[in-house]
Amino acid sequence: MTIQARFGPYGGRYVPETVIPALDELTAAYERLKDEAGFQAELQSLLKDFVGRPTPLYFAARLTEKLGGPRIYLKREDLCHTGAHKINNTVGQLLLAAEMGKKRIIAETGAGQHGVATATAAALFGIPCAIYMGVKDIARQELNVVRMKLLGAEVIPVSSGSQSLKDAMNDAIRDWVTNVENTYYVIGSVAGPAPYPALVRDFQSVIGCEARAQFMEAEGKLPSELIACVGGGSNAMGLFAAFLDDDVPMVGVEAAGEGLDSGKHGASIERGHRGVLHGSMSYVLQDAYGQILEAHSISAGLDYPGVGPEHSWLHDEGRVRYDSVTDAEALACFTMLSETEGIIPALESSHAIAWITKHAGDYGKDDAVIINLSGRGDKDVHQAARALGIME
Ligand SMILES: *Cc1c(COP(=O)(O)O)cnc(C)c1O
Repeated sequence: MTIQARFGPYGGRYVPETVIPALDELTAAYERLKDEAGFQAELQSLLKDFVGRPTPLYFAARLTEKLGGPRIYLKREDLCHTGAHKINNTVGQLLLAAEMGKKRIIAETGAGQHGVATATAAALFGIPCAIYMGVKDIARQELNVVRMKLLGAEVIPVSSGSQSLKDAMNDAIRDWVTNVENTYYVIGSVAGPAPYPALVRDFQSVIGCEARAQFMEAEGKLPSELIACVGGGSNAMGLFAAFLDDDVPMVGVEAAGEGLDSGKHGASIERGHRGVLHGSMSYVLQDAYGQILEAHSISAGLDYPGVGPEHSWLHDEGRVRYDSVTDAEALACFTMLSETEGIIPALESSHAIAWITKHAGDYGKDDAVIINLSGRGDKDVHQAARALGIME
């Protein structure tokens, strides 16, 4: 089996030539290991005992009653170790890095969530780890910076450009070009040059595989719809992948931020154009020259100016519907889910909750849906409290 490098016109490898041998090496290693019994056994054991899988598929009875629409099931990725789905991918990639004999791990991070997930997995394997992070992000994400340091990672401040995610991304790629022999580069979503989009999707597909079996067990049929928020798109692809061959509708919910016409949003599919970011062709928020625009979302994880190439293709093919939800709508559902179900969702996941809240009336009484609750909201309580006027 070869690893998919293109999704229609999207994907590919738009990187300096010096990186190509490393991508070839990674592709070959993953091709060799992905179906190998020993590798899979090790991965399954780590997912079970370190990550805490399988995560529950929870029937949200009070939410269902409140909205009066479809029966709503929440896939509880918020219950994973470190509080979100990102760890599914970083544990998988670290296992790969260890098998490949790599001696050093690098990654970039925006809000710090992927940095923490990478630092966690690097500590698990005892491999030194450096995380690139914009100085602006370091200032506003102190908790995650402390977590990374506690986990033994080096946090490298990036002061060029906008001093945030895209600049950290550039520096991480520059590091990789220089140290490609011994260094493994961990990408945090279904983005980046091939083989990363397919590889990250595969590591996250455990979400949908579990959810499919759990839903069949509970309802005896396939779900009426799947709903997931989309930043880079890894939690969504992880849920969707197991259902792509079924006749199950799916919605990816992007960040509309302060409104699609405000210029402050993260809706790369709805408002972006075909272009190159992070080494692959996809829908990207860009100016007329192809320079990357800054995204905006109340949720740090959706604050990304691109989207994974497979999502761009699923959009063009009409297989998945993409829609968006504003900061205000997501924030309202952050409190609503907390009060209704006793679950404080991540602001990212609150976008998916907000979408079903708006569309509950479109379903029949026999419908049942799965919403991916990608993470827990503990990381967001200060920001939410400020936005809600609960505290300074
Ligand atoms: C990072 C993050 C996201 C967005 O990333 P995807 O790759 O789109 O999944 C969503 N939810 C949470 C909780 C996150 O930490």
